[in-house]
Amino acid sequence: MAIKHDWTKEEILEIYNKPFMELLYEAATIHRLHHDPNTVQVSTLLSIKTGGCPEDCGYCPQAARYHTDIEGNDLMSVNQVKAQALRAKASGSSRVCMGAAWRNVKDGAEFDSVLEMVRTINKLDMEVCCTLGMITENQAQRLAEAGLYAYNHNLDSSEEYYKEVISTRGYQDRLDTIGNVRKTNVTVCSGGIIGMGETIEDRAGMLVALATLNPQPESVPINALVPVEGTPLEEQAPVSIWDMVRMVATTRIVMPETQVRLSAGRTQMSREGQAMCFFAGANSIFAGDKLLTTPNPDVSEDMEMFKALGLNPQKPFVKKAQPETVAAEDSKFQNLGEKPKWTRPGHTIERNLEAQNKQKAKI
Ligand code: SF4
Repeated sequence: MAIKHDWTKEEILEIYNKPFMELLYEAATIHRLHHDPNTVQVSTLLSIKTGGCPEDCGYCPQAARYHTDIEGNDLMSVNQVKAQALRAKASGSSRVCMGAAWRNVKDGAEFDSVLEMVRTINKLDMEVCCTLGMITENQAQRLAEAGLYAYNHNLDSSEEYYKEVISTRGYQDRLDTIGNVRKTNVTVCSGGIIGMGETIEDRAGMLVALATLNPQPESVPINALVPVEGTPLEEQAPVSIWDMVRMVATTRIVMPETQVRLSAGRTQMSREGQAMCFFAGANSIFAGDKLLTTPNPDVSEDMEMFKALGLNPQKPFVKKAQPETVAAEDSKFQNLGEKPKWTRPGHTIERNLEAQNKQKAKI
């Protein structure tokens, strides 16, 4: 079945606003045509470098400019990462996603260390994903050569609303990073966050941006904002389960082959709510009691839920073959020492400035 790539905002809004039961039925039907409805892919998210980020993302407790309680850490060692990956594998995860609070990847010892982490985890026969900020084509090629399976770079929201949340990096840079990943054999993981104060039009706008990519991302995480004290979005109201299910169902309909990932915000959802999301086409979750810095259900709770719903964790490399790992000494790609000019729009976002000033007042 051909995948539609020319979605418009109006078409997506029409889907999102359908009567709830019709929306659920249509999404569940499409889901069954493209996926095994009883299989859910389980990933473990590992924060390999936490906090101290120079960006001003309004939702993020890792931004150095906001006063939050998270404990930062420098880049983990390859051995620490290997130990965590083995633990994740033993508890049923097929993928490890490594996140570093960086604006963009810089060539050098730390990136070389991340490449070694990718080689190490791929050799454990697990899918490896990284989320490291903006990357160049050369850096994407080096990650691919190390055995990276997926690269995550979220669009976060519509292009219009993105400007209300982040002023230090531009939407086009995000699309360019996704484009750089696409030039390799690494799969693309890109989604966003709902509950940041955006309109339904913005939600549809984000889905247009993702669904009109050709090919569409292999994985789309849908996060519900977890408001963290000290961040500009600390007072946002929680996302209702109805909005979450509508967003998952709409994503499933417009991107039928994509793995739709329930990400941040699952602790605020009941099991029944999550079951509705699985019915509406979600087929991936993050396991482990923390998602970078925000809480997430315990692995054993998730496994109980899987048992109750008759769901099975997906085995690794079902959707795409395991990439080969090329040793560092055999690499075809040199460190080019590039200094890419990623944009810094620098417009004023009042609530970001207020949160930043509160932080300054506390110092
Ligand atoms: S979302 Fe990423 S880039 Fe933005 S502040 Fe947090 S760690 Fe930095």
